Amino acid sequence: MKKHNFSAGPAILPHSVFEEAAKAAVNFNNSGLSILEISHRSPGFSAVVEETIQLIKELIGVGENHHIMLLSGGASSQFYMVPMNYLDPTDRACYLDTGSWSAKAIKEAMKFGHVDVVASSKEENYTYIPKSYLLPEKAKYVHVTSNNTIFGTQIHEFPETDIPLVSDMSSDILSRKLDMERFGLIYAGAQKNLGPAGVAIVIMKKDWAERAKREIPSMLNYQTHIEKNSLFNTPPVFPIYVTMLNLRWLKAQGGVSAIQERNLEKATLLYDEIDRNPLFQGTARKEDRSHMNVTFLLNNESLNDDFLTLCKQAGIENIKGHRSVGGFRASMYNAMGIESTRALVEVMQAFEEKYG
Ligand SMILES: *Cc1c(COP(=O)(O)O)cnc(C)c1O
Repeated sequence: MKKHNFSAGPAILPHSVFEEAAKAAVNFNNSGLSILEISHRSPGFSAVVEETIQLIKELIGVGENHHIMLLSGGASSQFYMVPMNYLDPTDRACYLDTGSWSAKAIKEAMKFGHVDVVASSKEENYTYIPKSYLLPEKAKYVHVTSNNTIFGTQIHEFPETDIPLVSDMSSDILSRKLDMERFGLIYAGAQKNLGPAGVAIVIMKKDWAERAKREIPSMLNYQTHIEKNSLFNTPPVFPIYVTMLNLRWLKAQGGVSAIQERNLEKATLLYDEIDRNPLFQGTARKEDRSHMNVTFLLNNESLNDDFLTLCKQAGIENIKGHRSVGGFRASMYNAMGIESTRALVEVMQAFEEKYG
């Protein structure tokens, strides 16, 4: 039976990517060697790094004015690397608190400088994106989480400000067209929409690539990775390779504008059913709903286990909601085809026939 995997992360990748990755694990480029046993400085792997960086630039729409870094440590390391590189104790940075990941980023930044939490939706369990707040005139950056993986909200309008935006885009990078000129730096752990766990992507505007004034460890200094083109130490070779395969796949699909349309189609199909079906309700405010992670509840929660059983019978996996929201969460990243969304909607309709 075909499985429909709605996992929030590590998440699905196209089947063709899994197959090509499996081949390269045995015999990379017909070299008779596995990609896992060659030097990260060999011509074969250098070409992989080069192509990965070029594909990121091309697909996200940046050119020579940006640095791209492929780092380890996940998005969580960026929570401290950003303030460690940019904030001195007397500096101020603004943070928008829109979910657990934002809160973690805030906690780390407070160890380095003055943090202004300009708005928070915590008191309503992060069901919306705050919109009316004042930004100070002077701050090093404004940090936002573009998509709140756990709570199913997404920023559809980024704050209007001259202060550079820093964004954690872990769960919606390359899912929609964005004006990259507005961002000083964006980062993303790969395992939601880019590739496998183990690599994080940092995209930094060159004119914003300010050197940390303090002495900080080399591995934690962006300048090190910029100067060494992400090859200061042994990078996560296999996650980078699989990310490259997935970026090739995305390009072949028609790039970000084509995938954005398909993501919108999937999200619309599922939200329409949540709004129509009397047994279900969405958890996020309509105008802030995420196109990647759809969070919803059964009005009668005592039926939760029965719904999960019906899902399982239809091949639907990993649909249970995060413990801080409850109910269900359908993560529908780029690699998910609309047939999987349809399979879920059909189960919701069958459920309505049974209990409605
Ligand atoms: C998953 C996730 C993270 C954490 O990523 P790691 O790579 O596990 O450190 C951070 N931010 C967002 C928005 C996420 O979805």
